[in-house]
Amino acid sequence: MSLVADLERALGADAVLSEPAELRTYECDGLTGHRAVPRAVVLPRSTGEVQAAVRACRAHGAPFVARGAGTGLSGGAVPVAEGIVIGLARMNRILEVDVPNRRVRVQPGVTNLDVTRAVTEHGLFYAPDPSSQQVCTIGGNVAENSGGAHCLKYGFTSTHVQELLVVLSDGEAVRLERDGPIDLAGVFVGSEGTLGIATEIVVRVVPRPQRVETLLAAFPSTDAAGEVVSAIIGAGIVPAAVEMMDALTIQAAEDAVHAGLPREAGAVLLVELDGPAAEVALSLRRVEELCAAGGATEVRVARDDGERTTLWYGRKAAFAAMGRVSPDYYVQDGVVPRTRLPQTLRRIEELSQSYGLRVGNVFHAGDGNLHPLVLYDAGVEGEAERAERLAAEILEACVEAGGSLTGEHGIGVDKVCAMPWMFSEGDVRAMERLRAAFDPDGLCNPGKLLPTPRLCGEVPGPYRRHPLEREGVAERL
Ligand SMILES: Cc1cc2nc3c(=O)[nH]c(=O)nc-3n(C[C@H](O)[C@H](O)[C@H](O)COP(=O)(O)OP(=O)(O)OC[C@H]3O[C@@H](n4cnc5c(N)ncnc54)[C@H](O)[C@@H]3O)c2cc1C
Repeated sequence: MSLVADLERALGADAVLSEPAELRTYECDGLTGHRAVPRAVVLPRSTGEVQAAVRACRAHGAPFVARGAGTGLSGGAVPVAEGIVIGLARMNRILEVDVPNRRVRVQPGVTNLDVTRAVTEHGLFYAPDPSSQQVCTIGGNVAENSGGAHCLKYGFTSTHVQELLVVLSDGEAVRLERDGPIDLAGVFVGSEGTLGIATEIVVRVVPRPQRVETLLAAFPSTDAAGEVVSAIIGAGIVPAAVEMMDALTIQAAEDAVHAGLPREAGAVLLVELDGPAAEVALSLRRVEELCAAGGATEVRVARDDGERTTLWYGRKAAFAAMGRVSPDYYVQDGVVPRTRLPQTLRRIEELSQSYGLRVGNVFHAGDGNLHPLVLYDAGVEGEAERAERLAAEILEACVEAGGSLTGEHGIGVDKVCAMPWMFSEGDVRAMERLRAAFDPDGLCNPGKLLPTPRLCGEVPGPYRRHPLEREGVAERL
């Protein structure tokens, strides 16, 4: 019997998509440059159905890829051609809200924001807050170890995951916990769908802070704003968030949503402080002083929740607002030590000039997590390739500055060949051995995260050789 027939028998025909037009929806994630059409998509409703789908794949030797909302920005959920996509959107129930222990048990297709909505009436919230939080799923967040503006103080997804139910590539369902002799849940978080499929997730939720203050400070340049970020952290203050936008992104966001961002500024910082009222009041005064000493041309504190929401709206609209100033853009994601922010932003500007392509910067400055947006027009021959090359050089600059290949968007297929820039052969081998212990046959999201010489060549580098783009390679994964 064919794999599709087997899947239909196991899950019912209404849970299996195999028409070419239906499959197109699943050919890429948020990084639309990498595409592959799967053989079929299955939409299970329970752990048992995920197990049945995985067992059918295994019986046919077919690779499979888990998919949440498909908002990933590193090509993690791109199908392997002729493989199966296991879409978890139907598994979107909140299974348990345990207020005394501040834990919530969810299915993987629950959106990030729905976790907070489920506990708001109890004065609690789920802290990791990717800008995509209205649509991205907790399963995708776990796989990517996603971050967000407030992760500076509260920690990334890994800080909040307590327990997982995972379907392994042989179809067995296992519980992974944080407090065993080996932190297997910790191993799973950030593994980008290569170790199995999470079908239940227990996360920690935290009390809403007593007081929140949000401050916007305008500066003549990103250099000046970057110095103030270091000064704030150096003063022993841990804000809930410190975000930076440069001139290009300020203007684009302001044109799009009219949030009151200062159009003339070279850079703005959005600083949020939260915690006990007295402590927040003290920290706020100190941050205002540091901004003034650092050359701020304007410092504005939101007067109420309405103004706070508007300021955040301006920040969170920045990615989408780029669509107003450029037909296409590529989002890079790299990290540098906070103190190297000014120098790295200068390097990005140099690269932008030499490639003749504009780069906007809107990012989690407190974490040193940059998101350069490389603007290009795919309709102009060669411009997409130049944008990729420029983005790759930005990443090289981050690694050279002592930073990292990714802050929160993951390696996926996009940066798989860049792994050796940061990790030795021995490091990669250790990760491969770990992966093989979970998935000995390599059926679970192959071709992502870990480089192979066959796919990446002897001289590794993203965008020089690329797994899914090269003719014939995807079929052989
Ligand atoms: C506008 C925009 C803003 C964004 N802002 C942020 C941000 O601020 N911070 C941030 O960190 N990210 C951000 N992202 C990236 C993205 O939203 C996150 O990576 C998110 O966690 C992906 O969730 P998803 O449900 O869309 O997962 P998908 O894209 O569907 O999948 C992502 C990866 O997770 C795997 N996966 C999905 N579900 C499971 C599961 N149940 N078990 C095992 N593996 C699974 C997939 O195989 C894939 O490798 C943004 C994206 C967009 C488009």
